[in-house]
Amino acid sequence: MREFGYRRVLDVSGAVALLDADPDARFLGGGTNLVDLMKTGVERPARLVDIRELPLDRIESAPDGGLRIGATVTNSDLAAHPEVRRRYPALAQAVLAGASGQLRNMATVGGNLLQRTRCGYFADVTKPCNKRVPGSGCPAIGGDHRNHAILGASDHCVATHPSDMGVALTAFDAVVSYETAAGPGELPLTDLYLPVGDTPHRETALPPGALITGVTLPPAPVAAHSRYRKVRERASYAFAIGSVAAALDVRDGVVRDARLAFGAVASRPWRATRAEALLAGAPADAATFAAAADAELAAARPLPDNAYKGTLMRNLVVAVLTELAKEAGR
Ligand SMILES: Cc1cc2nc3c(=O)[nH]c(=O)nc-3n(C[C@H](O)[C@H](O)[C@H](O)COP(=O)(O)OP(=O)(O)OC[C@H]3O[C@@H](n4cnc5c(N)ncnc54)[C@H](O)[C@@H]3O)c2cc1C
Ligand code: SF4
Repeated sequence: MREFGYRRVLDVSGAVALLDADPDARFLGGGTNLVDLMKTGVERPARLVDIRELPLDRIESAPDGGLRIGATVTNSDLAAHPEVRRRYPALAQAVLAGASGQLRNMATVGGNLLQRTRCGYFADVTKPCNKRVPGSGCPAIGGDHRNHAILGASDHCVATHPSDMGVALTAFDAVVSYETAAGPGELPLTDLYLPVGDTPHRETALPPGALITGVTLPPAPVAAHSRYRKVRERASYAFAIGSVAAALDVRDGVVRDARLAFGAVASRPWRATRAEALLAGAPADAATFAAAADAELAAARPLPDNAYKGTLMRNLVVAVLTELAKEAGR
């Protein structure tokens, strides 16, 4: 066993000071991803800075009608919160679609957004992997890539981001707040994850040592009419092979507002902006929904064994939007 240090912190400034002083330290949220990766040797931190006692465990209504979610709120508390369920139901559904009850009791919002890919080669230190060891190669491209990316990947990495929560947060324009030793900052969630390019080991735009302190959801009336649908290889306790977070506002048979994000198809939760643009002002029918899915998926570059994801995502988009449109017509 490899030795590592452990410190529990009670204030944000103490937490960021510890990371600032020691680049080999890592924040410990619920530990449900980090500790697993330490066991396999993928992560080898010199010190863990336990942030679970920080005062970042609250969900509060913002004065503008949005929600502010603390970074150490557990997945279980997030999914159970009455305002989340009422105002952003797809977010509660996304969280409940992930992992298991025990894991959700431990896992935190910040940790969920920064969890690492589930690519099997990444998790196996005996294999090359550009994300783990830059320049070593990507065996997934010529190997097992059934669950890998069809959008936004590169010749250097085709891994997907596994978060369900992040997909719904992306659809609702979430903004991530963080703190560093140099002061606070904010990033729209759509800018948190860096494009893969030839640097798949650089995953986020957060400054080194940044502590995520929370996520803000702006007010979005359309989000009250939203849904998360996840396809996985077994009914529970499994990561997505494709998922959709969607919200729809329909009046007189016409789409007034739509939000759409995809999960498990790219290195980050994928905001479907081309599809949203096509939906706005169009008839709320299956033909429009299929055309919107096609517009987004035109950029897909599947590998031999994951082309099924294009069909899967198209069917998911049409099914979820059709359900939401029917409910709007009642
Ligand atoms: C068997 C299993 C099944 C799972 N199924 C799903 C699933 O279906 N869907 C899904 O979305 N997830 C799933 N998960 C993943 C799970 O949701 C994540 O492990 C969890 O959300 C990570 O949160 P955590 O607080 O435990 O993070 P940790 O493991 O504590 O941390 C993860 C990473 O984030 C960093 N970090 C944590 N908090 C902060 C912060 N506030 N600021 C900066 N950095 C931080 C850590 O340093 C670490 O690098 C599954 C996990 C397991 C083990
Ligand atoms: S897809 Fe990415 S994470 Fe997986 S082996 Fe290739 S480089 Fe590594």
